[in-house]
Amino acid sequence: MPELPEVETVVLSLRDQGICGRRISSVAVHWMRSVQEPSVEEFTRILKGRTIQNISRRGKFVVMGLSGGWTALVHLRMSGRLFLGRPADITKHDQVLLKLDDGRTLRFHDTRKFGRWRLTQDPETVLSKLGPEPLEPVRDFHKRLHAKSRILKPLLLDQTFIAGLGNIYVDEALWEAKIHPQRKSDSLTTSESDALLKAVRKVLKKGIRNLGTSLGHGKANFQLPDGESGRNREALNVFRQTGLPCPRCGTNIERIKVGQRSTHICPSCQRKH
Ligand SMILES: [Zn+2]
Repeated sequence: MPELPEVETVVLSLRDQGICGRRISSVAVHWMRSVQEPSVEEFTRILKGRTIQNISRRGKFVVMGLSGGWTALVHLRMSGRLFLGRPADITKHDQVLLKLDDGRTLRFHDTRKFGRWRLTQDPETVLSKLGPEPLEPVRDFHKRLHAKSRILKPLLLDQTFIAGLGNIYVDEALWEAKIHPQRKSDSLTTSESDALLKAVRKVLKKGIRNLGTSLGHGKANFQLPDGESGRNREALNVFRQTGLPCPRCGTNIERIKVGQRSTHICPSCQRKH
């Protein structure tokens, strides 16, 4: 599932490819449920003729600012991808197609069909529910960890606590900070909280530098809008490295379940007590 670095990579790539300033000349929706709101009919009618003024990211959402005060929010979920291509490139998994005035088409390709588009005049009703952006200054992180007594891993995956993290980068950050994923959030010392936030930023920045993590080359895996794979998989320290030596101490990486999620740890570096 695309996380903050993958979504950031998609946004930067679409921006580099000159999506801003392009006018949407026609809209086609092939999988109706890809549009969460409004109705597909309204969605198509409102989008047509609008200019894409800017594109950014908030948490795991792609945020497209459109003319006339509208915003398109795209959540890629499991397997959603955004491509800019020629009409000839269109394939059967392209669920939403926006034809642009320069002859290219913005394709929302989604094999698993969990990705969702929303078209709204008030994006804050969705975005204000998200926790802070980890790459911006995060206030009171330690205090917020202590405000709840929750198991660390599910708390870090909770988008209302901190935005943008998923399974890969949470495992990587906890390893980096040498903290066990099953620790309670209010058991962290101030220096552990600091180390954790620093680790979160480090792994996310590395992910962005490497243009995201593609776990494989299958159709459901993350790809950049130009069809390339991200390079961060080779840079992962624990995620899906079960049985391989910890790059820090040599102990074999183990896979455990935390809140039903597969979780990768070094049992020596990350102690529960
Ligand atoms: Zn280790």
